[in-house]
Amino acid sequence: MKNSDKLEVFNREIRNKIVGRRSPRRIWVNSLSFCLRRATLSTYLETFKYERTGEMLLGTLLHKWVQENVDVEEIRFEVPLEYRISDGWVLVGRADAILGDRILEFKLKGFNRENGPGSLDEMEEPSKIWKEQLNAYLNMADLEEGYIYVFDRDGLDFRHFRVNRNEEAFSKMLGRAKIVIKGVEELEHGKFPAWIKPRFQDECKNCIFRPICSAVDSK
Ligand code: SF4
Repeated sequence: MKNSDKLEVFNREIRNKIVGRRSPRRIWVNSLSFCLRRATLSTYLETFKYERTGEMLLGTLLHKWVQENVDVEEIRFEVPLEYRISDGWVLVGRADAILGDRILEFKLKGFNRENGPGSLDEMEEPSKIWKEQLNAYLNMADLEEGYIYVFDRDGLDFRHFRVNRNEEAFSKMLGRAKIVIKGVEELEHGKFPAWIKPRFQDECKNCIFRPICSAVDSK
């Protein structure tokens, strides 16, 4: 590293300490599956842990239930994972469980024919978002095989779906993380990253940053 780069790093660390930011800065895997402007604001303001939805809280209850009731050898629950993206930035996440060399993710799902399969049996594959998150954990943990356990919210019957590690998909996710880093750096220089758009239709409807975005987008 050149001397001027070392000074940049030193200056950045001082700035982080002055404003009480953790270092390295953390980007959560889950945030990268949705609007990256939201991920940017949430990373900049460090509000990710306050953005839990009712759905996420139900998911947490399911994890706890499995953890407290299922006892098998070689299983670790709530395993923290980290991956260095670039200097000063890490991707972080928490695998629901690691059994030997397989990562397990537990998901709770309600079934309704109007917006997807009508029952657990009719489900052909888990959602793209669940697969991309599990794939990120496989790459972060350097493991090859994972399973998404889908529990029917009505009765807790379950099925499991295999996901194989895909390095190309992970590198696309790292590309999304780099957009967030750029957005955060712009915010730090007083510029709002209006060029970052939502990933899905209707994402803004329940987003805590809607008042900020509406004010900026209406200018
Ligand atoms: S309000 Fe919409 S554009 Fe703004 S952060 Fe939320 S989801 Fe993204």
